[in-house]
Amino acid sequence: MNDQAARWMTDDVAQFRDSIRKVFEREFAPLEPRWREQHLADRMVWRRAGETGLLCTSIPEAYGGAGGTFAHEAVVAYEQARALVTSFSINVHSGIVAHYLLAYGSEAQKLRWLPKMARGEIVAAIAMTEPGAGTDLQAVRTTARRDGDHYVINGAKTFITNGHHADLVCVVAKTDATQRAKGVSLLMVETADLPGFRRGRLLEKIGQHGLDTAELFFDDVRVPAENLLGDEEGHGFRQLMQQLPRERLLIAIGAAATMQRAVDETLAYAAQRKVFGEPLLAMQNTRFKLAECATEAALAQAFIDRCIERQLEGTLDVPTAAMAKWSTTDKLCRVVDECLQLHGGYGYMTEYPIARMYADARVLRILGGANEVMKELIARAMEAGA
Ligand SMILES: Cc1cc2nc3c(=O)[nH]c(=O)nc-3n(C[C@H](O)[C@H](O)[C@H](O)COP(=O)(O)OP(=O)(O)OC[C@H]3O[C@@H](n4cnc5c(N)ncnc54)[C@H](O)[C@@H]3O)c2cc1C
Repeated sequence: MNDQAARWMTDDVAQFRDSIRKVFEREFAPLEPRWREQHLADRMVWRRAGETGLLCTSIPEAYGGAGGTFAHEAVVAYEQARALVTSFSINVHSGIVAHYLLAYGSEAQKLRWLPKMARGEIVAAIAMTEPGAGTDLQAVRTTARRDGDHYVINGAKTFITNGHHADLVCVVAKTDATQRAKGVSLLMVETADLPGFRRGRLLEKIGQHGLDTAELFFDDVRVPAENLLGDEEGHGFRQLMQQLPRERLLIAIGAAATMQRAVDETLAYAAQRKVFGEPLLAMQNTRFKLAECATEAALAQAFIDRCIERQLEGTLDVPTAAMAKWSTTDKLCRVVDECLQLHGGYGYMTEYPIARMYADARVLRILGGANEVMKELIARAMEAGA
């Protein structure tokens, strides 16, 4: 990351970045090929991530976190993506679920789960998507019916990141099935030995092969009523919407990191690859393509830096986060495609990082809100301001 340009990169944050860069590069990146092969990271990685300070970096120390800021979270997202470690999602665990707990959880909920999450003793996931409801979250069909001092959950979720490892799942369910947004609530579900809870198969994807993306099934699953997130039912949709800008920014930060890595990889490749007796890098097309890609990466980073500053100031709004998410993920796919082209046939071989980046990047235009939805959010804000 260009720490000279970024005001948010204080000495403390830069030091933290240097230390975690080593962890991702030396400890986790070498394990990626095995994880990709087995379609699952080893469970120990979560403990190790906790020990090395990668989890819950911006959660207060009182709840077991590191007491840092969004800047610390940003460097974790950046360094994980830069190291091409895609087989376990710290963004979902720390960036999303921990912050739902911090923002809406009771004191008892925070003390019960956050310290264990920070240590990597438990793994968290968020289960919004269903076979019939992805973008349109108000249409979820999973229900949570109140029965005495419990909720009874029924439904099926799909595409759930960290789904195989998850011990704690934040489930989006309807507590009032007659309502759309107002019927949605968030419930924290502890999965260990939970009757009626079942994980489906690990889903086969075109990229991110080591990440455990799974289906989850709930058949009359009983969870204590105190596991509701927030004081009252029906606030789930608002809670989801409030947290989305930071989640989208984390996706954008990872995309900017991968873009820079693609440029670095391709520069190194083009410098050593000989074509017609000359380095590939000597050809004008290669030079121009790399110049274009490096410019795109620098522009993306400049915008991301500004968004990080705004997140730290508490002023990052929905349309700006949407701009960051769609533009960086869109650009990433284009940059990676150009960089792959410069690798020739080797770019199509998965032993080359650029091939993995190509496949791994594609989903970023879909998850966290499809890029079309991002444009709709921006257009709506423009219309409201017109
Ligand atoms: C690898 C992976 C990991 C994921 N991880 C999680 C997770 O951890 N938890 C979770 O809950 N979900 C997760 N998801 C699900 C993801 O969030 C959804 O796939 C996404 O929200 C889109 O929903 P959908 O697939 O049902 O597509 P649909 O809602 O059917 O949308 C299909 C397409 O329609 C278009 N579209 C939709 N709405 C609009 C609109 N308003 N305007 C214009 N065009 C529109 C877009 O092009 C969109 O891509 C994951 C998905 C993948 C692939």
